This record gives sequence, C-alpha cells and structure tokens, in this order.
Amino acid sequence: MSSSIYENLGAQSAQFIRAEHRMLIGGRWVEAFSGKTFDVFDPGTGEVVACVPEGEAADIDLAVQAARRAFEAGDWARMKPADRTRLLLRLADLIERHGDELAEIEAVDNGKPLAVARRGIAGTAEMVRYMAGWATKLNGESVNLSVPGEWHAYTTREAVGVVGQIIPWNFPLSMAIWKIAPALTVGCTVVLKPAEQTPLNALRLGQIIQEAGFPDGVVNIVTGFGATAGAALAAHPDVDKVAFTGSTETGKRVIQAALGNLKKVSLELGGKSPVFVFPDANLELATPGAANAIFFNSGQVCSAGSRLFVHKTVFDRVIEGVIEHGNKLKVGHGLDPASQVGPLISRQQKQRVDGYIRQGEEEGARRFGEQRAFDAGGYFVAPTVFVDTTPDMSIYREEIFGPVVCAMPFDDDDLDRIAAEANRTEFGLFAGIWTQKLGLAHKLARRIKAGSVSVNAHMVNEPALPFGGYKQSGWGRERGREVFDLYTSVKSIAINLD
Ligand code: ADP
Repeated sequence: MSSSIYENLGAQSAQFIRAEHRMLIGGRWVEAFSGKTFDVFDPGTGEVVACVPEGEAADIDLAVQAARRAFEAGDWARMKPADRTRLLLRLADLIERHGDELAEIEAVDNGKPLAVARRGIAGTAEMVRYMAGWATKLNGESVNLSVPGEWHAYTTREAVGVVGQIIPWNFPLSMAIWKIAPALTVGCTVVLKPAEQTPLNALRLGQIIQEAGFPDGVVNIVTGFGATAGAALAAHPDVDKVAFTGSTETGKRVIQAALGNLKKVSLELGGKSPVFVFPDANLELATPGAANAIFFNSGQVCSAGSRLFVHKTVFDRVIEGVIEHGNKLKVGHGLDPASQVGPLISRQQKQRVDGYIRQGEEEGARRFGEQRAFDAGGYFVAPTVFVDTTPDMSIYREEIFGPVVCAMPFDDDDLDRIAAEANRTEFGLFAGIWTQKLGLAHKLARRIKAGSVSVNAHMVNEPALPFGGYKQSGWGRERGREVFDLYTSVKSIAINLD
C-alpha cells in the first residue's frame, strides 16, 4: 500500500488490511491446504493491498466437515432460540462498534466511498437485528385432519443443515450478512465463500463473529476462486443447501453443480430493471431518483434502474437532469472524503463496461455524460446516458453492471403496452415507477413481472421486505419472513390418538 491515499485509513483498518490473512475453518485461522495465496487489488488505485489464502476443494471439504460437526452436535445444535437471538444481537452491536473500520476496509477492498460504505454497514447491523428477532418466532402449526379417527397433527420448521453461501463483490459485507444472518437465526451452520475480488471484510467479519461468541464451526469462511472453491462448495455432497448471489450465467452453473445430491438451491441473479417516469411525477424527486437508480455504486447493483422510460412530454427535461446529475457526481477513490461514486471492481469489469459503451455508440445510440480524466491505475468509468436506444441493441438487452443507462421516451397511456415493454427482458428483479396517480401506480405494479417494485423511490433497503427475482433473476426470496423458507424444511407429524 504505497499510494498516499492510504494515509486516510484508521490504524485498525490499516493494520487489518496489512496483516497476514488466514481463512476460518472450525474456529481456527488456517492457511490453504495447498499453501497457495492470491492477491487482492484496490480498485481505486489498481495496487495490490493484501494477499489471502487460495482455498480449493480440499479446504471446502474441511470447512464442510467442520460445519457438519457443529450442526449435528455441540453447543450450537443444543442452543435455544432465545440464545441464538442474544448472540445475533451481540453480533449486530459489534458490527456497529467496528463500523468505521469495516467501512474503511470496504472502501479499499471494493472501492465504495466511505460515506456509502458507512451507511451500508449501519443497514447491515439492522439486518442482523431483524433476523435475530425471528429466532423465537418461527413456529410450525397444528393441523386439523379430516381422515377418520382422532388425531393430533402438527408441523415443525427445522434448520435445513449445512449451508454453502457464495457471494459477489458489489456489497461485500452486506451480502455476507444477508446470507449468514437468516441461516444462523434458524440454527444452520455455514460455509461462506466471498468473491475473490473482495475477501477482506468477510475475513474481518469472521473475527467479529468469534468475538460475539458463536461456537466454533458454525461459520466457516473459505477465500478462493469461483471455478475451484465456489464450484466445490456448490457440488459438495454433504452440503444441504447452496445460496448464491451473482451473475445469471454462474447461477446456472451452480444449479448444475448442485444436481449431484439435489441440494436446495436459491439464487439472486442479474437484472435489467425498468424505471418509469410519468408526466405527472414530482420531477424534483424523480430526476435524481432515476439518476441514483443507475449511478449508485457505479451501477454495480443487481437492481440498478438501467432502462429509463420517460414520458415524451417530460423526456428532455428529465434526461437533461439525469445527465447533469451524473456529470456533477464526484467520481474518485473511496477513501477520498469528496468522492460520491467509486471505481468499478476490476480491470476486467472496466473493460467490459467500456466495451458496452463503444458498442452502444457503434449501434447508433447517442451518448451523453462528461468524459473525464481519472487517476491512473483506478478502474473508473464516468456516469453515462444513452438515448435513441432500441430493444435490439446489446446495451438495452444485457446487464452491463456499470453506470450506463438507456433512456427511451414513451407516449402511451395503455398500461398493458407499457408493462409489455418493461417485461421485454429475460430478467425480473425490480421496477421503479414515478407518478402521483395512485391507481396508475398500483395497476402498473401488478402488470410488471418483477420481484420488487418501488413507487416514488428507488429500492427500499428494508430487511422486512422480501427481495428476489422473477424469470432469470433468480429463485427464492431473501429478507423478510420469506427468507426462512430457504433455510428451513417443514416436517409434518400426525399422531393417531385412538
Ligand atoms: P462476476 O463474473 O461478476 O465475478 P460471478 O457470478 O461469476 O460474478 O461471481 C459471484 C460469485 O460466484 C463469486 O464468489 C465467484 O467466485 C463465484 N463463482 C464464480 N464461478 C463459480 C462457479 N462455477 N461455481 C460456484 N461459484 C462460482
């Protein structure tokens, strides 16, 4: 870490990032079985900032064994729900207490501006608290039978067992918590594989989980690459369930790997989410709302509003506002307090997004957004708006995962036709609607095939609201009560009383 920007780091985060990193298996911090390591890059400078163990199939196997032991016997298996709640609440408090440090690690590992990372970490602690409350409330029910005789019948909800969790790099700490917290709430044990681009906060979280007092083997963290460690986790015959967040393409590989033992699979995948601005909308809110929908986190958000439909009567005004909003955003290193938007995660990702921008221009779309000179080394892309886009263009159809939005005017009043346009995608994760007409909002929300719809807001980051996709955006729902369907099995018990 030679760049002067690292002088902005606090002592604790600097010490953690520079430390020799190990993985967490069975309560011990270990090197990879092979002894191999890999480099971790700061996307804001392109510098190597750390190196971590390169876990592979052998390490995954050890982690699964540790998780199995913890699930079947010991303190965790016998723990009462109220004690799991207490542990999770302690974890939430510790996440908050270490919040500044976690935010700084995230700013270096992932590139997020500090203020954004700090808000995310506060939300992460709230997610743990929300989940913690459910541990004592997830009951089965008694069932009235109609078959002859006198019966006592009931259902129970049981933890599904050992869970493999594979997460992406766009929100490293939040994604880890979205996965771990509900699994622990119901008594599962976990093997977590963070993304190879952003392993640091998962490892720091492992330390905090130990500090909170979770028994050994309940959470195991293996750093490594997708094709080796990730694939081994998805395929492992003693894993009962795999939960994956990432690209649709990789999600399909996870399904195939899971076939061997028919483990349960849940997937939170890509999106190409539409945002609609109707002429009656409050444009003071809708314009920055539509801009944030795509520029937040440099567009590296599965629910990013990457297709913007604006009624033709207000199209010029809204699009000019979105372009201006993008131009004013300070794009820079996450540790620079002035930064509002950080870099993309990697050189490959920047090349991919730059490629889409070139392709958009070649295919005839008009590009807006200031060209800027960025710090050499960092993987920055300026906020970009395309107009004159058509459904056959790759920028319109494919998930770009960068700060690039396709804007289209519409002049239709027919909600079925408008919804058909929104639904003209293989994805179905999210949709945004800006209008003050209540009936219109409800009617359009019904017609859109997506797991979440926001009206006069973009994405509500609320633990109680289920989140997940229709179509190729995924299987299952995270957050809300619905997440427990992913981590529990229902058993029915019928007792003949005669
Ligand atoms: P990206 O291509 O943007 O990195 P991915 O969906 O490939 O997104 O990655 C998300 C997560 O999936 C990461 O933790 C990655 O290591 C993991 N992963 C990648 N390939 C596989 C695979 N074949 N099996 C299981 N996990 C994988």
